[in-house]
Amino acid sequence: MKLKQFWLSTALFCTSTLISSYALAEEHHAETPSFTSTEVSKNLWMLQGKGGNVALMTGQQGILMIDDDYKEMSPALVEQVKHFGGLDKLTYIINTHWHGDHTGGNFALGSHAQIIAHDNVRTRLLSSQEIKLFKMVSKPYPEKALPDVTFTKAMTLHINDEEIKIVHFSNGHTDGDSIVFFKKANVVHMGDHHFSGFFPFVDIDHGGNVLNMAKNIKEVLAIISDTTQIIPGHGPLSNKADLQDFHDMLVGTSAEVQKMKDEGLKLEQIKSKGLSKQWDSWTDGFISSETWIDIVYNSLLAK
Ligand SMILES: [Zn+2]
Repeated sequence: MKLKQFWLSTALFCTSTLISSYALAEEHHAETPSFTSTEVSKNLWMLQGKGGNVALMTGQQGILMIDDDYKEMSPALVEQVKHFGGLDKLTYIINTHWHGDHTGGNFALGSHAQIIAHDNVRTRLLSSQEIKLFKMVSKPYPEKALPDVTFTKAMTLHINDEEIKIVHFSNGHTDGDSIVFFKKANVVHMGDHHFSGFFPFVDIDHGGNVLNMAKNIKEVLAIISDTTQIIPGHGPLSNKADLQDFHDMLVGTSAEVQKMKDEGLKLEQIKSKGLSKQWDSWTDGFISSETWIDIVYNSLLAK
């Protein structure tokens, strides 16, 4: 599979049957579920499987994981944990938000670790959730797969000689997003506040909003440096410039849709007129230009 196709297949949030153009790549990947690992810094890796990017930190005091991919990726994820020290070393799992491509591993790993997330993640996972755009329903999670520790604004973990800040950013991708900062390593896991290089899914039905997402990212850009390494929710290991590009795309496309809306165009008319050519490279088949316009338009309505 070509590199670009691989990134796209990892970005798929829902089942391959719903997005036929990438069904082949997805099925091919599903036959041999596995992770590729990228060393981000000493004792910190980015693992890429099928869903959201996983971060894994090792050390004397145990293993910390951020997000745990789809449920069906759990056997491969368990193998990774064994490779990096064993299940008995797994101490913390942080869920950046409730989506199944970031929390599916909670079922297999939840009894081995403390799961930490924003309050709204546990609330969402306690009941059925429907994502209309993908015609996807998530059933309530059992107790063992729910976050054990929840917080409202922020919390700090001190483990393996590192200070890890977990900060809630409100109403960006969902209503329960966290962004995780590794102070010494100078690494950030953005959760789904960053799809590196392509249009993101923004879950408006569950409190997400494109404008808030841009505002939240601007806050992150103000506190990170040019040498900060960024683990995006989806896409390759990135840096501040990549996050800036993503932010500028959110702001630029929102402005275009707002302008057309102000001129009196209805949603369907805006879709047929389309965005300017400069955003073409952000279209990848996961979130098409039309779907992106839909998400932006609904974000503007909710403003
Ligand atoms: Zn998500």
